Amino acid sequence: MYDQLITEFLKVPAESNARYDIEKIRQAAEFAALSHEGQLRKSGEPYIIHPLEVAKILISYEMDDACIIASLLHDVIEDTAVTKEEVARRFSPEIAELVDGVTKLGRINYTSKEEQQVENLRKMLLAMAKDIRVIMIKLADRLHNMRTLEYQTEEKKRSKAMETLEVYAPLAHRLGIQNLKSELEDIALKYIDPIGYDEIVNDLEVFHENNERFDRIKSMITESLEKEGIQATTESRIKHIYSIYRKMFNQNKEFDEIYDLYAFRIIVDKTTECYNVLGLMHDLFTAIPGRLKDYIATPKPNMYQSLHTTVSFEGYLFEIQIRTREMHEIAELGIAAHWKYKTGRFGKDPLDEKLSWVRKLLEVQSDMNDGDDFIKTFKIDLFADQVFVSTPKGDIITLHSDSTVIDFAYAIHTQVGNKMIGAKINGRIVELTSRMHNGDVVEIITSESSGGPSRDWLNLVKTNEAKAKIRNWFKKEKREENIFFGKSSLERELKSNLINPANVSEQELFAPVLTRYGLETMDDLYAAIGYGAVSISKIMPRLKTDYSKLIRKQAEQEQPAPQIVRPRKKTTGGVVVDDIDNCLVRLAGCCVPVPGDEIVGFITRGSGVSVHQANCPHLKGIEPGRLVKVHWEDTENEYFATTLTVDALNRIDLLADISSALANMHIMTRGLSMQMMAHGDVRVVLNIEVHSLSHLEIVAKRLRKIKDILKVERS
Ligand code: MN
Repeated sequence: MYDQLITEFLKVPAESNARYDIEKIRQAAEFAALSHEGQLRKSGEPYIIHPLEVAKILISYEMDDACIIASLLHDVIEDTAVTKEEVARRFSPEIAELVDGVTKLGRINYTSKEEQQVENLRKMLLAMAKDIRVIMIKLADRLHNMRTLEYQTEEKKRSKAMETLEVYAPLAHRLGIQNLKSELEDIALKYIDPIGYDEIVNDLEVFHENNERFDRIKSMITESLEKEGIQATTESRIKHIYSIYRKMFNQNKEFDEIYDLYAFRIIVDKTTECYNVLGLMHDLFTAIPGRLKDYIATPKPNMYQSLHTTVSFEGYLFEIQIRTREMHEIAELGIAAHWKYKTGRFGKDPLDEKLSWVRKLLEVQSDMNDGDDFIKTFKIDLFADQVFVSTPKGDIITLHSDSTVIDFAYAIHTQVGNKMIGAKINGRIVELTSRMHNGDVVEIITSESSGGPSRDWLNLVKTNEAKAKIRNWFKKEKREENIFFGKSSLERELKSNLINPANVSEQELFAPVLTRYGLETMDDLYAAIGYGAVSISKIMPRLKTDYSKLIRKQAEQEQPAPQIVRPRKKTTGGVVVDDIDNCLVRLAGCCVPVPGDEIVGFITRGSGVSVHQANCPHLKGIEPGRLVKVHWEDTENEYFATTLTVDALNRIDLLADISSALANMHIMTRGLSMQMMAHGDVRVVLNIEVHSLSHLEIVAKRLRKIKDILKVERS
């Protein structure tokens, strides 16, 4: 098929400076021709002309084999029966990825938008492309389509031209590919403002015809360079049409008033020669003060380097640019210059740090430090933490990459989120937890009868914006429910931290929290917890310290009780933790230490220090860092609960004897149980209050004296 066309085409890569695998390129061209067989372009030409031309543009940038082959195949997935898998099988997975990338970009629906939206669209294109070469193919594809735009309908001409001007030319500019950018702009202008375009073209023709000065200046420059023996190439360059057009519009100027219509460019071998040539030019013409720009000493952020000077000759102003060949390549080819570095044409390390400008061009954040990998793989992951998706109308929404469709709904509008009942991605119904990918079209299904967001959504959404909006809804719509929900979760948490507000003044305990969050009543606090404005884990530490302070204060205020009037609540105090003030202390339930026992403190997670007997088996294997020194407080007024087991022969008044013995010693009994054992023995378990270990011993001794009691032991 189309053998003639393909043979002609193959001369281009064969004659390129870059070394191409001509056989592989031929296979790709033939496969493309076969796949597009029978298809015609709007111009009536066979379709295969288009991919061949796109490939030629990329060969002029010396892009690599994979890129050229992918460009030949760039429309086969979209327009023919060929699948990505087939491309991968016939060529390579790498090439299939490139073709697939171009195909996906082609599906983005463009409508003219405000500037911020256009910027998001450009970012979305970059993010979707994933590989710089995909963007290069897309740009070349667009360039050829623009060159052949005349065959399209009026409406299509206009919308393609606008899209080119707003999206593709700026992308080419970002990538530093100036001549591709200029051609795109000039063609786009021709369709957007044909009259303005023609005027400038005419003015430029007239200008050339009447301007023999132009040729005189050019020969003056070449002669003086020759005289000094400097090897140099001199180019003259006319400002491209779109930039003249923009200058005339933006600065409201006539064509004649634009003095930098053309510029001369002198390209030399070495940097030092640039400055020699500059001196030479300033001798030859009159330098305009303040118009010298040294981008060699201070390169532009995109590493553009050159000397610019504006001079005058016979009252006529023009610009001269002086640079080395290498600087020139970078200025003209932008990111595409990379492939030349890669082939070592400048004899440089391909990972030359100079190429970091690529990242700068693409506005990479400084935290991306993998510059070398970026250059090696051409991977674009500039927006790794962002995802760009669009509404069915084509508005682009940028979200954090973890976002769910719920985040998307709230990003569109609060009411869309609140009334959301479902979502579609690319036309398919998805779950609310679904993530989105770059370029997805997301549609939110809403219903007026929706009951509002669910509380679970707070855990599903990733953006603070959506969280805040959901909380706000709960705050307004569900006060009763919030109070209930907040109250029960706070009570649960207090209980697990051994805080019982009934033991202290509830008002005093919560006052600081209420003040801090600007709340008035406890119900306000419960409600705020319910809708998520107050987090329990944030208020808990403060409540814990305040609680133990209040408990302590209460204990101090209580009168030193006479032996018989017992402070009922003081069953857990009496232990001082060395080095720590105000901490919650409780006696361990496993070994129940009493004063006089050797004790050790264990820092629990979230419920203060638990005090164990030093030999308690539960302490074995505990990290030493969590043990603290503790000692018994010196006081006779504190009581401790402990348990004694009494084994005895049963008789009718055994319990009466035990109780009267305890009563005589002013011992408070907290609990008592009795159980029949074998052979008519009984076991009485007494839970009693004592001050200390020695006190306990006295009690045990006294009990042993009771008739029929066999054994008294601490259990
Ligand atoms: Mn195409």
